[in-house]
Amino acid sequence: MEKSGTLSTPEQKHSKFKVHYTWIYVTERCNLHCDYCFFRHMHGREISLDAVEKLFLLFEKETGAPSTLIFSGGEAFLAKENLFRILNEAHGRFKDTSLHIQTNGLLIDRDSIIELRRLGVTLEFGIDGASEATLRHRCGLKPASFKKLTETIRACVQAGIGCGSTMTVHPQEVDHMEQGLDFLREMGIPHVDVTPAAFMPWTPETVALFKTNYLKLARRPELRRTMYANEDNEWIAPGYMDLSLHPPGYLLGGDPFLCLPENKRMEFNIWDDVGRFRPEVLAFYRTAHEKVHREHAKLPYREFVCHNFELMNSMMGTQYMNTWAINDILRFLTRTHLTLGVKKYGT
Ligand code: SF4
Repeated sequence: MEKSGTLSTPEQKHSKFKVHYTWIYVTERCNLHCDYCFFRHMHGREISLDAVEKLFLLFEKETGAPSTLIFSGGEAFLAKENLFRILNEAHGRFKDTSLHIQTNGLLIDRDSIIELRRLGVTLEFGIDGASEATLRHRCGLKPASFKKLTETIRACVQAGIGCGSTMTVHPQEVDHMEQGLDFLREMGIPHVDVTPAAFMPWTPETVALFKTNYLKLARRPELRRTMYANEDNEWIAPGYMDLSLHPPGYLLGGDPFLCLPENKRMEFNIWDDVGRFRPEVLAFYRTAHEKVHREHAKLPYREFVCHNFELMNSMMGTQYMNTWAINDILRFLTRTHLTLGVKKYGT
């Protein structure tokens, strides 16, 4: 694709868009190697602080700030100095933006907890339920580090930090969902996003079992309060899209594109080296998003995520991800949460 144009010229006003969520992947390094890791092409790079500044200027001058800035990795706390530098900057500049970190929780110390509390940052821990299931798939985690992780989560909850967890369900673990969710709830984690592991060998049988078991859980009123349903109760309006900033400074259209290989990140990078928009790349995302809004009168955010998974396959020009299984389960979650009235967390 050719690089050309700047967003701010009058003839490109049609390129304007609003940002819903933005991810900043502060590092590609991680201290675990989970077997289902979505981040398939780690190169060990860090985010460039210049790219972050360009992104913040973009919010201020062009798109408006996102509702939430999500910090992720790799493991974000491996780049603690940059992480806190960016958090402090965002805290000072974007008063209405929530700050959120996705983490495996292994490197959060007492000083970090105090600072996170001061900045009003919320945390999302990757923990897949009780120790057996978590240790089986989050490779590198040992019984002692699992114990330390649970102590850290408890310390964060007690410190008053808003905490949740993503409980990734591997197809092998569909029979352990109830045990996992009970374990996390009893630990005091207020909300849990039960989510299928992408890129794993789902079959029609394991997808069906996931649904049967999840429905059983959703019918237990005390568990329903723990289930994370924000993405089903949150509607994304036309003209909005997500952004994601990847090391060293690629700007892409959302979280799922983390798993794209390097050549595709370059091809679908929304801006060039000096922060000018590449109109043809922006138009690619905009056209795809407009199409999905034409097909769905009302678009829950989770449906938008399903759309982005399908978009990723079209970016790759091949069936890169097994979207039939993942999207089937994600759409089932939306239907279940809306039918049973599972509320947005915090309402
Ligand atoms: S902790 Fe996250 S980034 Fe690290 S290997 Fe596991 S899933 Fe991947």
